[in-house]
Amino acid sequence: MAESSEQVTSGEGGGYPLEATQETTSEVTSGVRSLRELIERVTGKGFNALQVQEDAGIAEVIPFPFLAIVNQYEMKMALLLALINPAMGGVLLIGPRGTGKTTAVRGLLDLLPLVPRSLCYYGCLPEDIESMGIDAVCPDCARKYAEGKPLAVMDRARLVELPLNARLEDVIGGIDERAALHHRLRLQRGILAQADRNVLYVDEVNLLNDDIVNALLDAAAQGSYTVRRGPVSATYRSRFILIGSMNPEEGHLRPQIQDRFGLRVIVKGLDNDEERLEAYRRVKSYLANPRLAASQFRLETEMAREEIQIARQLLPKVNLPDQVAKVGLRWIKELGIDSLRAEITLFEAARAYAAADSREVVEVSDLKQVAPMALRLRKSIFMSDYLNRQAEEQAQLQAIVNRDA
Ligand SMILES: [Zn+2]
Repeated sequence: MAESSEQVTSGEGGGYPLEATQETTSEVTSGVRSLRELIERVTGKGFNALQVQEDAGIAEVIPFPFLAIVNQYEMKMALLLALINPAMGGVLLIGPRGTGKTTAVRGLLDLLPLVPRSLCYYGCLPEDIESMGIDAVCPDCARKYAEGKPLAVMDRARLVELPLNARLEDVIGGIDERAALHHRLRLQRGILAQADRNVLYVDEVNLLNDDIVNALLDAAAQGSYTVRRGPVSATYRSRFILIGSMNPEEGHLRPQIQDRFGLRVIVKGLDNDEERLEAYRRVKSYLANPRLAASQFRLETEMAREEIQIARQLLPKVNLPDQVAKVGLRWIKELGIDSLRAEITLFEAARAYAAADSREVVEVSDLKQVAPMALRLRKSIFMSDYLNRQAEEQAQLQAIVNRDA
């Protein structure tokens, strides 16, 4: 929440009666057919006048409602598409401080989908059996599966944050010190393993140590990783939705790291006065009473969460026709992008977009919607400069040689 509250001086309390935003909830949500439509509609809705109450001085952990964020359409869409399709490769939010990046990510808390959570210590899931056969799970789970007992329960995904000061041991896991006190050697799950099936948020990803970034990206790419400590080793699953944010003023992100993120969103401050004022009012209302502020967006938030769940279920059926894919490949070629991750993200994001719109076939218009987010900052400036210089040199060389024909 800190980001968007920076500009506000608190202490005065008091909510604002908001004009021009007096639509009732039923007007806002009636006839919504897709997630996209819901976001578009709800963007114009504000908080109603708030009653000021004496608080008990207890810090609230209620996030600022995601849907109450003013404008920032592309950021909101990118984050929701990431929840719908983890195969898209996550999201990188790029922008200065105070533009609501962290607020938006924490606001996802109320929108997180249901995911299967293993009931077994080893993390066995029914899908392991479906994809790799009965030997893919532990003997206990194989027996349970044969008896028709559940191996997993559906549980809300969690938002796991990787703090900037985390040590490599915290990130990948290390010796369980409490067990070591009792002369037992046991490994403790690190943040990457805790993030399995969840959303992992890394604020200021450009300021992380290289060894942590490497561990993070390898785990994200492979979906699992192995930790070895002396005689003990363990392999953990790490299939998470990676969301990173960075402020380019504070440090640069190596191009090969940047390439590992799926969608890239440039988050700018609002430049319209009306919108800035509205954002100020909403933050002020929220700070005065977070619980009440959240309750005013509860219905839309629940609808959005359901839409995300429905889109996730539809996603496996959404297909990308060849003639649509070829249009995307042509754009990538014309842009001179080498990385294969460009089309993976472009196509997977377009599938998520179609699913969010309740369609089973991807259209060129879906590609158009997601292309800026999927394809920007993909081109290697170093490589194109290098090749241009090489071409110039080649031309010069030819010219010199040809003079003596
Ligand atoms: Zn098991």
